[in-house]
Amino acid sequence: MENKIKQLKQLITDAKHIVITTHTNPDGDAMGSSLGLYHYLKNLGKKVDVITPNAVPSFLNFLPEIDAVTDFELHPKQAAKLVDKADLLFTLDFNNLKRLEKLGELFLEKQAPIVMIDHHIAPQDYAKITFSDTSACSTCQMIYEVIEALGDADKVNAAIANCLYTGIMTDTGSFKFASTTAQTHLITAKLIEAGVNKTFIHESVYDTNTESRMRLVGYSLSEKLTVIENCNTAFIALKHDELQRFHYQKGDTEGLVNYALSINGIRFAAFFVERDGQIKVSLRSKAKFDVNTFARKYYNGGGHFNAAGGQSDLNIDETILQFTDILKTYKDELNA
Ligand code: 5GP
Ligand code: MN
Repeated sequence: MENKIKQLKQLITDAKHIVITTHTNPDGDAMGSSLGLYHYLKNLGKKVDVITPNAVPSFLNFLPEIDAVTDFELHPKQAAKLVDKADLLFTLDFNNLKRLEKLGELFLEKQAPIVMIDHHIAPQDYAKITFSDTSACSTCQMIYEVIEALGDADKVNAAIANCLYTGIMTDTGSFKFASTTAQTHLITAKLIEAGVNKTFIHESVYDTNTESRMRLVGYSLSEKLTVIENCNTAFIALKHDELQRFHYQKGDTEGLVNYALSINGIRFAAFFVERDGQIKVSLRSKAKFDVNTFARKYYNGGGHFNAAGGQSDLNIDETILQFTDILKTYKDELNA
């Protein structure tokens, strides 16, 4: 770690133009870590840009300087120019360049050093420096730890703190997941001292639902929830026309899978959604059921032991049939 921090310090000192990126369909941790690091590096006097592979969901619009973020899908030429000028790249909250989709090609071609900071399982070997901590609750926590190791804890101002707090809060399910440790709370306390507006962040993330989103949640729970009792499994699947019916906006299905998991006795929950001509899969589990391996094996994805995701190549009906079929082979494990 000490050696890596030394190396990182040198890279930052030498860099003039830094580009930060994060995974497709960015979430609270992806944007919190990217903008937290952005504010830190900018305050060091660097030119910094954040590029996302696609749009940021609107519930994150409150993050300080979110407007400075370049959406590659919307502005591919501008994003390419920024990557071209960069002499240092950070990839945050993912560990496989395929999670950048098309934007990944720009990174592969680029000769500048890459620094990865991430907490997902099994990092790919593409970075000059890899900070990988699968026990960390969030990439935001790791960003704080890196800033602290660089000797700059006193440079964490309110903007940085608000960004990092957001990612820690969202990736820990508001400090409830097993990944929430004493260290998480110690860091969170330091962030609060640095000026986090907790109520504002909580309300901005959780209390800004549209009416149509709440109706989509209600519909999903009352009409679309399937419980497979003999496998302690529950899942929800939504088709494109159902999303349209409820005026779907990015982020509207966030957290639906957790409702399925919250049923007493359910150990494994899945959510399937037909979006952008693709089936996106979200998996969650309690205790000892490994959804990271499941996502890698069947959905070309990955993530964490208890929270993972991926895509299905089949259509939605076939995906569900395949899922219920696969499930039979896990029956004993899910009942153990
Ligand atoms: P979500 O279900 O909320 O989209 O994702 C749950 C976790 O799995 C997150 O940590 C996310 O980064 C990871 N994940 C989601 N989709 C994919 C994917 O397609 N590939 C990989 N490797 N990880 C994913
Ligand atoms: Mn994360």
